[in-house]
Amino acid sequence: MTCANRRAWIEVDTGALRHNLIQLRRLLPEGCGLLAVVKANAYGHGAAECAAVCQQAGVRAFAVATAAEGAALRERGIAGEILVLGYSGAEAVPLLSRYCLSQAVVSLDHARLLNACGLPLRVHWKVDTGMHRLGFAWDRPEVLASAFACQHLQVCGLFTHLSDAEAPDPESRSRTQTQIDRFFQMVQYLRSAGYEPGILHLQGSYGLLNYGGIPGCGWVRAGIALYGLLSSPQDTTRFSADLRPVLSLRARVAQVHTLQAGEPAGYDGAFTAQRPSRLALVTIGYADGWPRSLSRGRGRVLVRGQSAPIAGLICMDQLLADVTGIAGVSPGDTVTLIGRDGDACLTAGEAAQAADTITNELLSRLGERLERVLTNQSGDAPAL
Ligand SMILES: *Cc1c(COP(=O)(O)O)cnc(C)c1O
Repeated sequence: MTCANRRAWIEVDTGALRHNLIQLRRLLPEGCGLLAVVKANAYGHGAAECAAVCQQAGVRAFAVATAAEGAALRERGIAGEILVLGYSGAEAVPLLSRYCLSQAVVSLDHARLLNACGLPLRVHWKVDTGMHRLGFAWDRPEVLASAFACQHLQVCGLFTHLSDAEAPDPESRSRTQTQIDRFFQMVQYLRSAGYEPGILHLQGSYGLLNYGGIPGCGWVRAGIALYGLLSSPQDTTRFSADLRPVLSLRARVAQVHTLQAGEPAGYDGAFTAQRPSRLALVTIGYADGWPRSLSRGRGRVLVRGQSAPIAGLICMDQLLADVTGIAGVSPGDTVTLIGRDGDACLTAGEAAQAADTITNELLSRLGERLERVLTNQSGDAPAL
């Protein structure tokens, strides 16, 4: 490994990313493309790096949360469609227009606000089909139709977001089907009134994995599945894809301490040695995005291919691991927080569950301070 002088870093397995792209594309119907969701620094993986790998593999559409995220991708050479999913006010229009980004437009007021800037702007209309997050109301299609009068807005697409696609119970499935029906009612209304809605898209990862291809859609917006994960490890999906985790998180042992039984360590005496112990100081902390809620043995790390519980309270930039049972732990050893070490493996799902959250949150909070290192551990997949 070429990481001998790094403090704490993320390894991005580009072979796994390409592999996941191929697996997900297999589920798409004819004429439907994969849009790579790379918001929040590609769920912590590194947006420019991941988007470049996807682009190389033939992906022509990307989604981000903010205009600034989109502009940063363009600066790094990402072409094709870049859709800003989150709300942008009038102040973002010069940036959106200059970088040829597409903006989600969520209401008639929003459309008029952006149109009033007088700059040409690509837009995708967002329809609220029941989630009540963002969007034009599904049952007032004439309101959306009137937004087509905004002369500076170039309508490129129409989309909605499913709120319950991950849940297999009949009520959730019926709510999802209702959302799908409402979306296509809107499409029908617009087309019969002579308005062309452009490219249609409504599924994220779970929408695809639980509902398969939906005829008429031009894109599926894949986020978490592209990174080889489900949001919660116990989730099951109707269609299975052989997904491989893309991200590993590693740090280093800086020092090893020998404690006698009864000796405390760390802040607030949150750890007291119950027996003669050895503690390894690991070079990563909550400011790097490793949740403090994994303190006091709720989380664990891998050292020398073995599991070591986190001892005491996680600090801002470092943590202690109890390596009493592991022979030979020394300064400079690599510590794995997510990923494989020999035969042992620690998944993002396990850490997320222990921290009482989902993989999406755990990964997207991994900090700027972590260097992103591209690797190809999975072996390569053929370019498309
Ligand atoms: C984040 C997001 C996605 C991707 O969701 P995943 O579950 O990670 O695939 C898709 N669509 C919208 C509107 C989003 O905000």
